[in-house]
Amino acid sequence: MTPEGEQLLRDGLGALSIVPGEHQVQQFGQLHSLLVERNAHVNLTALKTERDIVLKHFIDSACCLRGAHLDGDLTVIDVGTGAGFPALPLAVLRPALQLTPLDSIRKKIDFVRDAATQLALPQVQPVVGRAETLGRDPNNRGRYDRVVVRAVAALPVLVELALPLLRSGGRLVAQKGAIGEEELAAGRRAAAEVGGEIIAAEPFELPLLGDARSLIVVEKTRPTPRTYPRREGVPARQPLF
Ligand code: SAM
Repeated sequence: MTPEGEQLLRDGLGALSIVPGEHQVQQFGQLHSLLVERNAHVNLTALKTERDIVLKHFIDSACCLRGAHLDGDLTVIDVGTGAGFPALPLAVLRPALQLTPLDSIRKKIDFVRDAATQLALPQVQPVVGRAETLGRDPNNRGRYDRVVVRAVAALPVLVELALPLLRSGGRLVAQKGAIGEEELAAGRRAAAEVGGEIIAAEPFELPLLGDARSLIVVEKTRPTPRTYPRREGVPARQPLF
C-alpha cells in the first residue's frame, strides 16, 4: 500500500475510534497486495483502486465493530464472505475472534484461505458451502456466537440463513446500505418466525465517504423451528416475508 493508502486506513479506522498497531497496518498492506494480484487473474471484486479497497472493503468491514457486538472471545461465521469481507479485516483487528468465512464459490474461499495463511491468521478457518446446508448440519447448527454478513441479501433472507447457525442468545450482525421501513418490518416478521428479534437498527455514515449504511442486529431468543432454513436457494427465491 502507498503511504497515502496507509494514511487513509489510519484516518478511516480513527473515525471508528480504532488505532491500529504497525503490525495490523502491515497486514492490511499485505491483504491489499494479495487482493490486487489475485484479482488480475480471478474475478474476486469489482473494486480496483487502492482508495476504494481501503475505504469500501477495509473500513466498511471494520464498521461491523460498531456497537461492540463483536467484542470478546467469540465464534463468528461470515455468511457469503466473497473475497473475505468482513471476515479478514475483522480477523486483523480482533485476533480473539474464531472466524469461519463461508462462501459457496470455491475460488473465493481459496483466496480467503491463502490470504489467512499469508497474513498469519490461524484463527480464520474458511469453508466452501452454503448457509442452508450448514444450518441443517448438526456440527454447525446452533454453534456460533455471532453471524456477520455484508452485502448478501435482503434482511428476511439473512435472518433465515443466519439464525439456525446461532446458539441461543447469539446475534446476527448485518452490515447493510440504507434500509427502508418495509425491509425492516419484513425482517422483524422473519425474525419472529425463525426464533429471534431485532435488537438494534442503527443508521450511520461510512467514514470519509459519507455513504449511508446501517447495522442491523438480530438476537436469537429461542430455538429455530426444524423447518428452517429451507432447501438451498429457497430462502432467496421465496423470502419468508
Ligand atoms: N460479503 C462480501 C462482501 O461484502 O464483499 C461478498 C458479497 S457478494 C455480493 C455475496 C456473496 O455471498 C457471494 O460471494 C455469494 O457466493 C455468497 N452467497 C450468497 N448466498 C449464499 C449462501 N446461501 N451461502 C453461502 N454463500 C452465499
